[in-house]
Amino acid sequence: MNRVLLIKFGEIGLKGGNRRFFERVFIQRMKDALTGLPGELPWIKRTRGRFVLDLEHWPAGPVIERLGRVFGVVELAPALVVTAELGAISGAARQVLEEALAEYPAARAVRFRVASRRADKRFPVNSMELNRILGAHLLQSDRELKVDLHDPEITVEVEVREEGAYAYARTYPGPGGLPVGSSGKGILLLSGGIDSPVAGWMSLKRGLELEAVHFQSFPFTSERAQDKALDLARALAPWAGGTMRVHLAPFTAIQRSIRENCPGELGVTLMRRMMFRVAEALAGRAGAGALVTGENLGQVASQTLESLAVIAEASDLLVLRPLVGMDKTEIIDLARRIGTFDISARPYEDCCSLFVPRHPATRPRREAVARAEARLALPALLEQALAGVKTVDAAPR
Ligand code: ATP
Ligand code: MG
Repeated sequence: MNRVLLIKFGEIGLKGGNRRFFERVFIQRMKDALTGLPGELPWIKRTRGRFVLDLEHWPAGPVIERLGRVFGVVELAPALVVTAELGAISGAARQVLEEALAEYPAARAVRFRVASRRADKRFPVNSMELNRILGAHLLQSDRELKVDLHDPEITVEVEVREEGAYAYARTYPGPGGLPVGSSGKGILLLSGGIDSPVAGWMSLKRGLELEAVHFQSFPFTSERAQDKALDLARALAPWAGGTMRVHLAPFTAIQRSIRENCPGELGVTLMRRMMFRVAEALAGRAGAGALVTGENLGQVASQTLESLAVIAEASDLLVLRPLVGMDKTEIIDLARRIGTFDISARPYEDCCSLFVPRHPATRPRREAVARAEARLALPALLEQALAGVKTVDAAPR
């Protein structure tokens, strides 16, 4: 009898010809997530429709916690694996049931059922019959038990496969999605707000590898604003494969120049366009094919259709806005779940809120934007900002 972790995945199994590539990325991301735990990396094997990880020499708790943040994982099930033979299967089923029962009060009857699957048809007993045999066997227990097919508290699952039979009674959900790096790379425009880290998480979930850029306006924004962005990156790091690269880009000179030379109502539009230009240059260096922002529709003046369009025209890159379709309350719920909300909620001075005009243009016109930008030394400003970029690899504390 050996302890293993069954790793169930979703969509990667559907990727036809690319499947091998997806699987390789997935295994790499799982290994990344386990790096740093004491001991040698456990083996991870592929079986039909599953990955299996050795838990004999590994503590299940930390492994489950870490793999629970690897995109692509749909469910984790610590299981016992035995030879596919009725006696051994009964023993394994009993043991996983007893381990699960430890969490229920001994004073009352616990409802359970057995759910078997026979993937290996050479096994002589079909799944219905196996359910019945195992159910009857498990009922002979010191604990008070009751079979309940419709509303069980514990489901003892048994899978009979070619390489052996697995039994488990506890499962843990994974985040789903696709393994990070299987969909290419993007640059996340990471402010200190609530939205952009959530947007980053959503794009990581679809397999995008991310680097982040954060714009700062020393001395108008403080060291704490920078710490906040870095802490957000640290919070995203476990989801991103362990670390998140952050480019800290100076934005003060650009903002000054915009304020001194351009109409105030276009300030936000022009700042965003400059952010996109800097981010595009960083994407070129990083080999990234998209920008990711926390922009939404209709939240603020800079998020009308016209405004989003004019901002995006500053760059040729594809712009992903994963939050379109989410309400603020949904974004906040997700921010709490993924551990970024409390960091975003810290008070801070945003580099943009400092220079936001009282009446920003909700429908900036292309010609007006072009005229305003003609008054800026664009290449020099861009070059200066890029030259001042500091890059940090943020890892969880
Ligand atoms: P967030 O909560 O992410 O700050 P928001 O709802 O406040 O978003 P805006 O302030 O209009 O919206 O910013 C829109 C997007 O522009 C942000 O989601 C982020 O992607 C990008 N952005 C804004 N400020 C910065 C910054 N200082 N550094 C990097 N990106 C930024
Ligand atoms: Mg903001």
